Amino acid sequence: MLLDDRYGRVATDLRVSLTDRCSLRCSYCMPPEGLPWLPKDEILTDAEVIRLVGIATGLLGVTEVRYTGGEPLLRPGLVEIVRQTPVHTSLTTNAIGLSRLAVPLAEAGLARVNVSLDTLDRDRFVALAHRDRLADTLAGIEAAAAAGLTPVKLNTVLMRGVNEDEAPALLQFALDHGYELRFIEQMPLDAQHGWSRDNMVTATEILESLSGFGLTPDLSTVRGSAPAETWLVGGGPARVGVIASVTRPFCGDCDRTRLTADGQVRNCLFARGESDLRTPMRAGASDAELAALWRTAMWGKLPGHGIDNPAFLQPDRPMSSIGG
Ligand code: SAM
Ligand code: SF4
Repeated sequence: MLLDDRYGRVATDLRVSLTDRCSLRCSYCMPPEGLPWLPKDEILTDAEVIRLVGIATGLLGVTEVRYTGGEPLLRPGLVEIVRQTPVHTSLTTNAIGLSRLAVPLAEAGLARVNVSLDTLDRDRFVALAHRDRLADTLAGIEAAAAAGLTPVKLNTVLMRGVNEDEAPALLQFALDHGYELRFIEQMPLDAQHGWSRDNMVTATEILESLSGFGLTPDLSTVRGSAPAETWLVGGGPARVGVIASVTRPFCGDCDRTRLTADGQVRNCLFARGESDLRTPMRAGASDAELAALWRTAMWGKLPGHGIDNPAFLQPDRPMSSIGG
């Protein structure tokens, strides 16, 4: 059984949100005061997460799992969940707390990390994330590299008037340390509904601002289902990526399926609906029954996210709850 859909795509890459809570408040993601968090009894237990991940990898052809959130490092059972994950496992994180957890996570089988880093300037970090934690993030990144959670990939969202001038400095930082930087176009997924197309820094603008680095298309990688288009820096081997989800969507090649912290399958970041696995699981559904529900959820995946359509409606859940 595979997680295929009516457009011929097959989902093999599972994103699991382990919590909707976070240690930061990045303005493109959540408001400074936080959000109404999911009630504890609605959040999957560690055993439930491990069971559903086991169904995805054992019965449904999932070959890769990425834990995310909210901030996955806030989940007390994270190391054990990683240890029980039978396929290639990575983490998307703000790295706060990673200096303590990098070694245990590596020993539990974590392959690598993606760390969000939007600025190298402390005051900007505070303005952007509403917490004075840049030093913790940088320490976490260093610890990840030292623990062998490599390649360490850095994710940057540029915002006009906030950090849009920092692309070259961030790329230089990544090059100096051997990290792989990817810029992500800002998407309409913030809880405050503050996104506007006009205000978004586009992939084209990002690439223009990096013209001094002598970027050339990276012909060794076919974009395929990988959302990042990559460029060689100064002839390589260093690379930089741009995830142009808005201006150059890759929906036709999408291989993602998502599970929220409260046990809902989402077939797309931008889906308006989701499919509940938690209730049937707690009512005694078998693995085969849960697998069938997951397959049905993916079969209904739309061909594209439609951000450019005037009728586009932002999903009710914010990014922090869906799991980016
Ligand atoms: N807290 C972790 C982190 O920040 O890496 C994991 C969760 S976060 C929701 C996952 C990724 O989504 C981060 O790289 C973040 O920059 C990105 N993200 C959040 N809101 C976004 C938005 N509105 N547009 C584009 N990317 C966004
Ligand atoms: Fe937290 Fe990540 Fe959202 Fe920033 S992007 S507020 S670190 S969940």
